[in-house]
Formats: sequence, C-alpha cells, structure tokens
Amino acid sequence: MNKKYCIGIDLGGTNLKIAVLNHNCGILSKEILPTQSFPHKEALIEALVSSVRNKLISQEFGNKISGIGVGVPGPVDYIKGVVHYFPNIPGWKEVPLKKILEKKLGLPVAIDNDANVMSLAEYYHGAARGLRHVLCVTLGTGVGGGLILNGTLYRGAENAAGEIGHLPLNLEGPSCNCGGKACVEVYVGNHRILARARRIYKKDITLEELSVRANKGDRRARDIWRNAGIQLGTVFAGAVNLLNLDAIVIGGGMANAGEVLFKSIRQTITSRAMQVQAKRVRICKAKLGSNAGIIGAAILAAEATQRF
Ligand SMILES: [Zn+2]
Repeated sequence: MNKKYCIGIDLGGTNLKIAVLNHNCGILSKEILPTQSFPHKEALIEALVSSVRNKLISQEFGNKISGIGVGVPGPVDYIKGVVHYFPNIPGWKEVPLKKILEKKLGLPVAIDNDANVMSLAEYYHGAARGLRHVLCVTLGTGVGGGLILNGTLYRGAENAAGEIGHLPLNLEGPSCNCGGKACVEVYVGNHRILARARRIYKKDITLEELSVRANKGDRRARDIWRNAGIQLGTVFAGAVNLLNLDAIVIGGGMANAGEVLFKSIRQTITSRAMQVQAKRVRICKAKLGSNAGIIGAAILAAEATQRF
C-alpha cells in the first residue's frame, strides 16, 4: 500500500485543527476543536490523540497515512521534538511531545513552531512559491517569524532562528516576554495595538473593527496602522539589508488591516533599507490564511518521513 497521506495538526491558542491531507496538500478532512475546552495539557493531548486515532482506523484514510506534523504556538526543539513552553497556554514546560505522540500513535511525528510551519506552507503552496529567500511573519498576539534561505527553512544552531519579533527596535524600552526589552513585539503585538486603540476611542475595540475603520477612512485608525507599519518597516529594513530577501510574507490577524499597513511598511523599507535590497524585496500578504497551519504541518510530516 502506497502511504500518500499526512496528518497536519495546528495547535493554536484558540483552536486545535486536525486534518488529513494528500501529497499535494489538498485537505481531505478537517476537524476543529476549541483549545480552551481542554483545561490541562493531558486533556489536550488526549483529544488530539483520539482525533488522530479515528482517522487511522477509518476505511478512507486508515493505512494510507505515513506521518504526522504538528505546528505549535511556542518555542520548540525541532530535532528533539520537545516543546519548551507556550506563552499563551499554561502548563507546558519541556514537554517531549514528539515522543509522547509517536508512542501513542505509532507513526513518525515532526513538531515545529507555528511561524516555521506557516513559512513552509507559504513557500510550497502560497505567496512565497517560486522564491528563494523569504521572511514569513505572523502578526498576532506575538510577532512570529520563519526564514526561508536558499529555498530551505533556516532553523539555526539551536533550531531557534527566525525570531523577527524579538529584534530590538530601541536601546531602551518596555520588557518583553522573551526576557529582552524594546523588542518589535512589545510595540506591535496586538495587545499593544488594541491598548493604543482603547486610549484613543475610550472603549474596547477589536482588531477587526480597527481594520474596518481604517479601510473606511477613519483617520485615527489609519494612524494606528500607519504607525505599526513604520515600526515593522524599520525592523524589516534591517532584515532586508542583512539577508537580501526576495519577499516578506505577512500573515496573522493583523495582516487584515490591509493596504494602510502594507503601504506604510513598504514606504519605510524604501526609505530606510539600502537601495539594491529595498528595490528587490516584495511585501505581500500570506495566501493560505487559517489553513496555513495544517498545510505547513503536513509538509513538515512529509519532509520528516522523506516522502515529500
Ligand atoms: Zn522579545
């Protein structure tokens, strides 16, 4: 039997998505469970295992599945398959998730952080297709990053590369979750953006609302996004000079702010980066949206089982 399917799992702070994908990363089946309904690590792992088991015993997919990939919202040792911690899900510390899942499911498992997984998805099937040197950025609660260099995901000496959200923007500034200070993430993570919006509008406002307002021409909303674009563009200008990128692909909830944000990023890069590098780089929106996690996880599984 030719095993041609993979299981892609996107373990997010909000949803746990489990899908079966074919060798072209077409989604054959997808299940979505709310992450918060599993209060403990063990319950979450059990839910994940039981969903995968159902697929493994199904007639449709059963013995055709060759491996499992998991994208997770936090730092991971890709080689050892250990989750260091999750900034937004309590109770996870140095969890050997790869080993646990392989033991319970009897299939090869590969694990990486969500930004790396999204980068693989966008590189093989999305906005970065056909390019060689790409920085993929997820703009959400945190600012995540993945680097494709020379057509390969660059992981670094401890499998921890790509953290564009933790490049310092200033010498001094607010402390960051990572232990540093004045990181990009403390200025443009969505908590900061929403806090700024709350101060200006004197009420709570969602990210979607802020984007809709900006796209309708609300000057104050546009200023918030423009300012975020200048901060992101400044750090991207440094990345562009350092790496001479083909493109920066931007995904995550904040990417929906649209043209006002992207234009501000582009203008800042043009004015701050070196001419040759600035001229080359494209700034584009991620294409795969909420499916990027499961698609990238399936690619991870396929690469790990050497069937890609
Ligand atoms: Zn940081």
